[in-house]
Amino acid sequence: MGNLSGEEKALALDRDDPLQYFREKFLIDDPFVIYLDGNSLGRLPLSSIRYLEQVVQDQWGTHLINSWNKDWYRKSSEIGDKIATIIGASPGEVIVSDNTSVNLYKLAFAALNYQKNRKVILTDEFNFPSDVYILQSIIQITGEKFHLELLKSEDGISVAEKELNQKINESAALLTLSHVTFKSAFMYDMKKVTQLAHEVGALMLWDLSHSAGVVPIELNACQVDLAVGCTYKYMNAGPGAPAFLYVRKDLQEKLTSPVWGWFGADDPFDFKLDYIPDKGIRKFLTGTPPIISLSAIEPGLDMILGAEIAKIRSRSIALSEYFIEQFNDQLLKYGFGLASPKSSDLRGSHVSLKHQEAFRIIKALMDKSVDGYEIIPDFRPPDNIRFGFAPLYNSFHEIYITIKKLDQIVRQRLFENYDHMKEDVT
Ligand SMILES: *Cc1c(COP(=O)(O)O)cnc(C)c1O
Repeated sequence: MGNLSGEEKALALDRDDPLQYFREKFLIDDPFVIYLDGNSLGRLPLSSIRYLEQVVQDQWGTHLINSWNKDWYRKSSEIGDKIATIIGASPGEVIVSDNTSVNLYKLAFAALNYQKNRKVILTDEFNFPSDVYILQSIIQITGEKFHLELLKSEDGISVAEKELNQKINESAALLTLSHVTFKSAFMYDMKKVTQLAHEVGALMLWDLSHSAGVVPIELNACQVDLAVGCTYKYMNAGPGAPAFLYVRKDLQEKLTSPVWGWFGADDPFDFKLDYIPDKGIRKFLTGTPPIISLSAIEPGLDMILGAEIAKIRSRSIALSEYFIEQFNDQLLKYGFGLASPKSSDLRGSHVSLKHQEAFRIIKALMDKSVDGYEIIPDFRPPDNIRFGFAPLYNSFHEIYITIKKLDQIVRQRLFENYDHMKEDVT
């Protein structure tokens, strides 16, 4: 496609893509909004609107409490089994429950209780703050028996294998990392890192929030012990939809959840006063699940299954490579830096750029009066702009327009028209 103009090339890439028709399956009511934040909150699938209406109207409205038996009671397991198919786990190893932070608390606590005679929890300085807070809270509540060690990055983008090799040893109880890190999109080699943890006898817990639904994951093949992840990012389940957790089959009987709620009991409806946990993965449930949000996971998940993870990954790489190629050609000269790994093997589905004026550049990107488009990336302080590429609905043409607008904003210094005020959520 050497002779095509940037825009023609983008349009041709869109035309030739096997997943191009998925975009129509989402609510996109304003084509002049370019949404590049699907790694924070995915777009709304049209099928979710119809399905949720049915859940509310028929299941709740008409069938009331009878829906517990008919539709709701097994839902956490049914959707868990479906999620298992996109993360390389087996039936009965995944359950949907609570949010990612609470699931991390339950699994990390259980793992540490099982590894009582070890001292160290290992994570990296790139981990999502909530994950680190959860680990800190466990350390405090268990009487400071454990301490947290952070793997460091030399380049601010990735964590070197050498660093992991140096820090991990037989004192490690638990190694817990985000598979794809939220800022730089650096992606760990799941198999290699899990193996390293096992060589020293540590348990491995992955947070899949930024990779589930967009990157092929093989939990069983990598012999992963534990995992958590959220459903409202690339899985498009909607704001606050409950998260998932995975416990490898043979570990389920060995681990105990720290939160003993009735939904985790062997028979929640016998109303006995002594807690007997469920024998399988359901022991990690707590109380009544949010049925409406839980139901909202399924339509997005079905779409991913229909599109196939391998094809989603190919498109994700193609979109990101196109963005980086255009970035190198047009933007590098304006004070930007690439804050994500160059190689797609080491990168998830978002790309971060650094710029001193990141915050005001985003303001200009979001301003329709500049070029007719509202472009929505997100800002991570102090100088990071994240562009999330959701392969099911983002197009090459949207990236073309984004690069063009970025070029206009920095070349004409349009960001100077905006102030530095910060909003609560970006
Ligand atoms: C988004 C995200 C979370 C979200 O946690 P919640 O408790 O569901 O709000 C947790 N960890 C990582 C790595 C994330 O990217």
